[in-house]
Amino acid sequence: MTCVATLATFLLVLGAGQEQLRRAARQRLVIGEAVLRSAIERYQYLPSVLALDTQVRDLLADVQASGRVAAVNAKFAAIADASSVAAIYLLDRNGLARAASRGSLNFVGNSYAYRPYFLDAVAGGASRYFGVGTTTGLPGLFIGKAVLAPDGAVAGVVVVKVDLEGLQREWRQAGEHVLVSDAAGVVFLASEPAWKYRPFHAVAPADAARIREARQYGDSDLRPLLADDAPAGTIRLPGPPAPVSGIVERVVVPDLGWTVSYVAETGAVVRQALLAAAATGIACLALAFAGAAASQRRQRLRSEQAMRLTLERRVAERTQDLSAANARLRGEITERERAAAALRATQDELIHAGRLAALGQISTAISHEINQPLAALRTFLSSSAVFLERGDTATVGRNLKRMTEVTQRIADIIRHLKVFARKTGPQHWEAVRLGTAAEAALDLLQARIRSEGVAVTCTIPPDAAVLAEPVRLEQVLLNLMVNGLDAMRDAPERRLVLTATREAESRWRLSVADSGGGIPEEHLPNVFEPFFTTKAAGEGLGLGLSLSLLIIRDFRGSLSAANGEDGAVFSLVLPAAEV
Ligand code: ADP
Repeated sequence: MTCVATLATFLLVLGAGQEQLRRAARQRLVIGEAVLRSAIERYQYLPSVLALDTQVRDLLADVQASGRVAAVNAKFAAIADASSVAAIYLLDRNGLARAASRGSLNFVGNSYAYRPYFLDAVAGGASRYFGVGTTTGLPGLFIGKAVLAPDGAVAGVVVVKVDLEGLQREWRQAGEHVLVSDAAGVVFLASEPAWKYRPFHAVAPADAARIREARQYGDSDLRPLLADDAPAGTIRLPGPPAPVSGIVERVVVPDLGWTVSYVAETGAVVRQALLAAAATGIACLALAFAGAAASQRRQRLRSEQAMRLTLERRVAERTQDLSAANARLRGEITERERAAAALRATQDELIHAGRLAALGQISTAISHEINQPLAALRTFLSSSAVFLERGDTATVGRNLKRMTEVTQRIADIIRHLKVFARKTGPQHWEAVRLGTAAEAALDLLQARIRSEGVAVTCTIPPDAAVLAEPVRLEQVLLNLMVNGLDAMRDAPERRLVLTATREAESRWRLSVADSGGGIPEEHLPNVFEPFFTTKAAGEGLGLGLSLSLLIIRDFRGSLSAANGEDGAVFSLVLPAAEV
C-alpha cells in the first residue's frame, strides 16, 4: 500500500511539475524567438539600403577608379559604428571583397565566392546565413543583398555581418538553456559555448559535406550532442560546465528555417517529486504504525480487561473462601470458648469436689480427733463428780486442769479450721507482693528467730507478686516457717532461706528451705495428710500442711515438699500478678 501511494505521489507530482515546466518553457520560447527575430530584423534593411547606395554601385562599376574604394570603406565604417554590426563589406560579382568597414579591412582582396550568403544573394537577390567567419573565425549572421547594375545584372553583393554573441550572453546570465539550430539540425547559437556547432543528432552525409565545404562552422567535427537512444521529450546535454537534463520545447522560425530549443531542467521537479513521495511514504508508514499501535493498544486493553475480570473473579473467589474460613474460625473460636468455659466449670467442680473430699477427710479426722478429747472430758467429768462426792478435791483439781488442756486442744483445732473457713472467691483476690507477705510472716516470728539464733536469707525480687488473698497467703508462709523452725530446734546450724523465682507461664515459685535435716523419705508422701505429725503430743496437730495445701490450691497454685542439702524445701507456685 505504502509503495503504491509513494509511487503514485511521485508520478503525480513529477507529471504536474513537468507540465508546469513545459508551460513555462513554451512561454520562454516565445520570448526567445521574438528576441532573436528582432535582433535579426533590426539589420534586415541595412544591406538593402547599401545595395542602392550610389557610391557602392559606382565602385562596383569601376573598382579601379581612384578614391572610390576609400570612400566606400569610410561609409561602411561609419555605418558599422553607428549600427554596431560586426562588419559590412562589399563583394564584386566574382565574390572578391572590394571594400569593408574598419575592423574588416583585411577581408578586402579575399574571395568569398564559395560562401552560401554570396551564392544565394547572386542567385536570389538576398541571403541569410549563419556561419563562422573564415577570416575572423568569429560566428555571425551574414545578411547579403545583391547590388544590381543598371542593366539589371548582379554587380556584386553587400554583406552585413551581425554579431549574435550578445544574445547568447544574455541567455547564459539569465540561467536559461537556449539553443538555436539550423535546418540541418546543427546548433549554432547556444547559451553554453560547448553546445555550439554540434548537431542534436548525426547530420545527413550530404549536409555534412556541404557544411564542411562552405566552412560554415569552421573546423567543427559535427559530433552529435545527444545519444540516439535518448527518450523523446527529454534531453540530456553534455557539459561543460555540467550536463543539463530536462524536457525540451521547440519552435521553428519558418522564414529563417531555424529551430529554437528551450531546455527546462527537471532536476528540481524530480527532487520535489521525490520529496513528496518520501513525505507520502513516511506519512503512510506513520499511518500504518499508528494503526498498528492503535490495534496493539486495543488488544492490550482487551487483554487488560480480561486480566482484570479474571483478577476480580479470583478476588471474589478468595473473598468467598476467606469469608468461609473466617466463619469457620469464628465457629471454632466459639467452640473453643465453650470448651474453655466447660473446662473451667469442670475444673471448678473438680476443685470443689477436691475441697469437699478434703473437707470430708478433715471432718472425719476432726470428729475422730475431737471425739477423743470429748470422751476424755466425759470420763474426767464423771470421775470428778465421784471424787467431789468423796471430797477428794485434789484429784478434782487435777482433773479440772486436764480438762482445761483438753478443751484447749479442741479450741486449737477449731482455730485452725477458722482459717480454712474464711474462704474467699477469686473476685476478692489481689496482687500480693511475695516480699511483703514473707515479711509479715517473719514479723510474727521475730522473737523466736532472734532467741533461737536463726539466720534468715530472703531473696525476693520487688516485682514478685501473685494473685491471692493476703491473710491466708501469710498464714501458709507462717505454717511453713514454723515447721522449718521446729525442725531446726536441735540442729547445729539454723538457716531459713526464702527465694522467689519467675517460672514459665506467668508464675512465681517461692521456696522455703531450712537446715533442719529434712523429712524422712518414708514420711514424704504423708506430710500433707491431715493430722499427720511427728511432733510430740501438744506440739503439733498435723493440720498445718494439709490446710496450707488446700489454701494454695484455692489460689490455683501448687505446694510441694522435697529435701534439699541439709533440710526440707517447701515450694509453692502461684499465678503471677502485675503490680
Ligand atoms: P504439725 O506441724 O502439727 O506436725 P504439719 O502438717 O505442719 O503438722 O506437719 C506434719 C509433719 O510434717 C510434721 O509433724 C513433720 O514431721 C513433718 N514436717 C513438716 N515440716 C517439716 C520440716 N520443715 N522438716 C522436717 N519435717 C517436717
